[in-house]
Amino acid sequence: MHEKLKTISSIDEIHSLIKVLKKEGKTIGFVPTMGYLHEGHLSLVRESKKNNDLTFVSIFVNPKQFAPAEDLSTYPRDLDKDIKLLSELETDYLFYPDTKDFYPNDFQTYVSVNEITKILEGEFRPTHFRGVTTVVAMLFNCVSPNNAYFGQKDAQQAAVIKQIVRDLKFDIKINICPIVRENDGLAMSSRNVFLNDKERLDALVLSRSLKLAEEIINEGEKETEKILNEMKKLINSVESSQLDYVSIVEAERFKITDKIENDKSYYILIACKIGKTRLIDNKLISF
Ligand code: AMP
Repeated sequence: MHEKLKTISSIDEIHSLIKVLKKEGKTIGFVPTMGYLHEGHLSLVRESKKNNDLTFVSIFVNPKQFAPAEDLSTYPRDLDKDIKLLSELETDYLFYPDTKDFYPNDFQTYVSVNEITKILEGEFRPTHFRGVTTVVAMLFNCVSPNNAYFGQKDAQQAAVIKQIVRDLKFDIKINICPIVRENDGLAMSSRNVFLNDKERLDALVLSRSLKLAEEIINEGEKETEKILNEMKKLINSVESSQLDYVSIVEAERFKITDKIENDKSYYILIACKIGKTRLIDNKLISF
């Protein structure tokens, strides 16, 4: 029988536990999250369980990745339900650090990545990635995983994490897992709970616009401006929408491109507010 999910909050405790587990030769898979778990998160946990002796999930709503005007205080939380879901999946450990331990008063060290953090999400959320990279480095130092699992849902975040792992020589394999969607195409997100019934329908314009872009590309269009203009038209036809960006980047280097070339992979990306709720989505296309 699987042992019960164990919750650890203390940093000293997790460091000593990891030492013991490493001595025993256990491989560790790690899924960092901000909680309010849904099938998207759980797909990462399943993937980790398949490929590692032990799976750690962290829940930490990281204040440093929210700008003052963003939704930190209203970010949805339900720890009891998260624990239930993780237990049902037979997750081994929940790491649930305390904000005061992670960011004591004299905290002053940040990890920052230069180029790919400036565009797209970085343009609209200028302090976001510095918060993400800093907390992920801290979490990696606490859990020391062999494998870490991230969702393609946050494709730019995944590219940024791969960059810090390469640059700072973390001995960790980064695994990117596919986007899990609702039946009607809406990408699962903890923030979907904020949408009212009308906005929930309007939110389908994100995945629809990505599909439209893919169709246009499959018909032979290579100029990204033309593709993005068609996406914008569709998005702007929805009254509650307020577009931050649509863009196409080379998947490999996460560089914005103005032409689609054969034999390459690209992400088509969108960030859009529906009412007051900011949503992101993307599609990976390969030739
Ligand atoms: P979050 O709790 O939003 O910080 O997300 C934690 C992890 O789950 C990140 O690596 C996300 O990319 C991933 N994730 C969130 N939503 C989805 C989804 N719909 N499908 C796959 N992965 C997801």
